[in-house]
Amino acid sequence: MSVRIEVLSGLGEKAPAAILVEAAGKRLLLDAGGALHPGQSSEWAKRLDVDAVLITHDHVDHIGGVAALPAELPLYCTPPVAAALPHGRDWRPLPERGQCRVTGIPVTTGQAGHSLGGVWLHLGIADGVFYSGDACLESLLFPFDEPPPARVALLDASYGVYDTPQVQCREAILQRLTEPRVLPVPVSGRALEMALWLDAQAARLGMTWNLDDACREALEALVRLSPELRREGHDAAIRRLLDASRTASPMLWLVADRDDDPVDWPGHRLLHTGYLTPRRQRQRVDGETDWQRWNVHLRLSHLRSLMGRLGAREVTPLFTSVVDEMIESLVPSSSTAL
Ligand SMILES: [Zn+2]
Repeated sequence: MSVRIEVLSGLGEKAPAAILVEAAGKRLLLDAGGALHPGQSSEWAKRLDVDAVLITHDHVDHIGGVAALPAELPLYCTPPVAAALPHGRDWRPLPERGQCRVTGIPVTTGQAGHSLGGVWLHLGIADGVFYSGDACLESLLFPFDEPPPARVALLDASYGVYDTPQVQCREAILQRLTEPRVLPVPVSGRALEMALWLDAQAARLGMTWNLDDACREALEALVRLSPELRREGHDAAIRRLLDASRTASPMLWLVADRDDDPVDWPGHRLLHTGYLTPRRQRQRVDGETDWQRWNVHLRLSHLRSLMGRLGAREVTPLFTSVVDEMIESLVPSSSTAL
């Protein structure tokens, strides 16, 4: 079966995700990303003609373009991700871990280790096409499921050749918790595992901390999910965390990222842990805020390991500006890049 793959957006830069896969006379769109910051182009949806769209997870650069798609276009996602769709948008369920068919094409899904209800996608065509969505092998909370073999791999390379283990990131963040801090985070991903980690660290160091209502609601949603969708051993800690009474003026705040500015938090200093918009990059350079990564994407040695486990022979590194360097790092010498 011949397959044509076109990355409409997300190749060569950290940009909205949109990938077109054409096989067996059908055209699937994998993710429908929206702009990560004002001014970023998300024009990929113009004149698009596809039979169905599959959404991996609920972050804006993967789901934010749904509003630009025809309302009648069949859309598939997991139930937790559907909560982030535009109000009233029809959708059909993707298994959180399992198999289904979309326009006759066999689709396998598994947990991607990145966010609440987020999955990777494997299409059973042409010896396997694997799309990681955003994925991470180091989450304390979200499992990463082993995918089936795939000849073609479209991988989350958001971190380029970066390869620092998460344990070092956590240590570096800890070093910065010596003054009042606000940590703005995406609620359906990093917020949940950072809440667990912060709870343990704050207790150890005698610091007060709190989380805002949005982070709290996301944690409550997490414990309502089927237990197989989170790593074992955290439920008691999550319930304790949710039941604890907390001060309204803590030293550390974990808050939903609402594009906060330093002026919004006069008594605290912002510590960002993920993607920085151009405006936030300027604030960091000007010394107004701090940044220390908390890993939520695949780092280089994990990309290599995943390529080997998939048996992939063709790779497309997504969401990175260092595409050639990544291909050189990932592709065995006898293979080709897409
Ligand atoms: Zn994401």
